[in-house]
Amino acid sequence: MHPRFAKTLDSLPADLSAAVAPMLGDDFSASFSPEQIQQLMDATRLGERELRLALLPLAAACSVAPISHFFVGAIACGLSGRWYLGANMEFAGQGLFNSVHAEQSAISNAWLGGETGISEITVNYTPCGHCRQFMNELSTAKVLKVSLPDDISTLQAFLPHSFGPADLDITDALMSPQHHDLPFTSEDPLVCAALAAARQSYAPYSQGYAAVALAFADGRTFCGRYAENAAFNPSLPPMQMACAHAVLNGADLGQLRRAVLVESAKGQISQQDAARSVLKALGGVTLEYLAI
Ligand SMILES: [Zn+2]
Repeated sequence: MHPRFAKTLDSLPADLSAAVAPMLGDDFSASFSPEQIQQLMDATRLGERELRLALLPLAAACSVAPISHFFVGAIACGLSGRWYLGANMEFAGQGLFNSVHAEQSAISNAWLGGETGISEITVNYTPCGHCRQFMNELSTAKVLKVSLPDDISTLQAFLPHSFGPADLDITDALMSPQHHDLPFTSEDPLVCAALAAARQSYAPYSQGYAAVALAFADGRTFCGRYAENAAFNPSLPPMQMACAHAVLNGADLGQLRRAVLVESAKGQISQQDAARSVLKALGGVTLEYLAI
């Protein structure tokens, strides 16, 4: 089991701790399959919502919060029935706008996992305005439920009179399948991974399709896609998504060896400077950059 879960596991109810421990091996992808969820429900006699609330400490155990020391965990329910963990992430020494919120982390985890929407998100603290706006971009924004320890409601109840994609005449939505034409070939597997992710990124306002691929000393690689937002500022840059996804999967950002950014040369914006700023906080790996 990865050390990030050891202390938290001891704090869970004994029946849940015993049932979930074998699922938290080194290959744990910060998600639970429908079969695993059923096993956990059988072992604990908890309903689905109660089980997610009980599992939130495991999500929060993935939090990296050197500035706030405020550890947030989230679990997103993919339309496939799989559950995806998420946690907040802050970058010491860099602007606070670089931060990733737990809801964004869980939704990114689900999107990178192949989901085309989420039905519900469970969080241990009430979602901030930034996250409510981020979630209003989702393919399921109109029906999404937000579950808190003492309340469950729809996103629309949390965000009345909302501003969203339709106000900018956009009919697309975050997590709906994307296939952008970025013609390029490479022999480098990391460049290929970033390229494939960029083709699936979401940027209907700027057409700045972009993605980051990170390679670690242990040979593992993780990607992040750009996720744009109608209100612009809540957009999640690809470097942030890649870092959050790597940490969820137990990677040590101190062991980062390569970082590749691929983006469209025809977009109205560039992720270059933002990506370099994050890398600076992580110890100075040089950004490899490709505009197509
Ligand atoms: Zn938030």
